[in-house]
Amino acid sequence: MRTIKADAIVVGSGPSGAAAAKRLSDAGYEAVILERQALPRHKPCSGIVSPRGHRFLIENFGPLPEETMHAPQYCRGVVFHFPSAPSLPMEFDGGPTPHLYRKFCDNWMARRSGAKIHAGTEFTGLEDDGKKVTVSARKDGEELRYEARCVIGADGPRLGVVKALYPGYAQSIPWFVVGQKFHAIKSCPLDEDYFHFWFHPGLGHYTWSHARDGRQIVGVGFKSGDAFDPRHARVTGYLRERHGVELGPGEDTEIVTANFGPSLINRYVFGKGNALITGQAAGFFNMIAEGMSCALHSGAIAGEAAAESFRRGTDMQSLYRGMIQSEVRRCSDQWNPLKIAFGRPHEADFRGALKKKAPAERRAIARDIFSFIKLYAPLGWGWQMLRQALLRAVTGRYSPSRWL
Ligand SMILES: Cc1cc2nc3c(=O)[nH]c(=O)nc-3n(C[C@H](O)[C@H](O)[C@H](O)COP(=O)(O)OP(=O)(O)OC[C@H]3O[C@@H](n4cnc5c(N)ncnc54)[C@H](O)[C@@H]3O)c2cc1C
Repeated sequence: MRTIKADAIVVGSGPSGAAAAKRLSDAGYEAVILERQALPRHKPCSGIVSPRGHRFLIENFGPLPEETMHAPQYCRGVVFHFPSAPSLPMEFDGGPTPHLYRKFCDNWMARRSGAKIHAGTEFTGLEDDGKKVTVSARKDGEELRYEARCVIGADGPRLGVVKALYPGYAQSIPWFVVGQKFHAIKSCPLDEDYFHFWFHPGLGHYTWSHARDGRQIVGVGFKSGDAFDPRHARVTGYLRERHGVELGPGEDTEIVTANFGPSLINRYVFGKGNALITGQAAGFFNMIAEGMSCALHSGAIAGEAAAESFRRGTDMQSLYRGMIQSEVRRCSDQWNPLKIAFGRPHEADFRGALKKKAPAERRAIARDIFSFIKLYAPLGWGWQMLRQALLRAVTGRYSPSRWL
């Protein structure tokens, strides 16, 4: 079997993989991206990127071409909806952000990373002897072997690289089902310039809707184990009764499973030896499941750590774990109850919007958010989040001792 050599193998051509590969290429190292699917590949995603993610795209990959965006091309912000309180619209800091067409945007980023791309090539395993990593992969039924100084696992929720390093990990975490359908719009009073999110414990752990290319997306996320269709029907029924949203039947159903949770409780997975894990595979997820900006930033940090380690001959894993602290702080702060109550961890002014409401409305919103949070109680995250928040307040960081 022929062995393909490179400085780094990046598994996954999503935002984290593209950003990692870009940093390596910019530093003069040869990176090969392995992508299991043919490119451009479909990616179920709302495509709303945070202002920080938008800046990263422009600064690192350049102005976004037309085909990288859906219609409406921009999103002005988020509207939070509650079962008994009035809705709360918030603009993104610094103006609207693009509504990304992941299929074409991810492909554009990967191409602009400067790395070689081996599409249709699935990572299947790795061996790290401390000096080099041997990666096995499969393309069209043929076994392939790669040799590199490091591997970067940027393969999202499939966790292929994580499973190769920690075989029991995937069984040790809760999994969520996230699904969406696309509907013809008969009448929809929800403002199409905003992403809409429901803090409603009766609907699901994550309930959203927004306009795309002339149709309305209705999505719901919940703990793995329930059926999607009845859950989705409950949401469309609620939208009709509460908001007067009249839609055609749901089409083009997309259902994925997600490893949501590590960023809430500071339980990230960063790999071992010369294998770095980044993006969603590492557990990065911002508030309202915005995962692209933290995937881009963490991916870039993984690429920088690898390049820095090549240059200085120092331990890659400890470099990465030191450098990734900044992204851990940004991401976990978004879920930190003390930061939410007394700080400004998000890129939309939640407390400012709340202040505009009458005191009785504010109390109703607080009650609704509290009963929504109780939905997560069986996961046992509440005390962990509080403890991490207190430690963050005292030490200024999230403890690396909880990371894998
Ligand atoms: C329904 C839904 C809506 C969302 N909406 C938003 C949103 O509006 N805004 C936002 O910011 N985030 C959103 N997210 C989250 C966002 O999509 C992810 O956080 C983000 O894509 C993570 O990027 P990544 O690069 O880490 O992984 P991914 O984008 O998942 O990329 C991983 C890549 O690795 C490839 N891969 C997997 N296994 C292998 C293997 N063994 N070998 C080779 N390649 C492999 C995959 O095919 C994929 O291309 C949403 C997610 C879902 C499910």
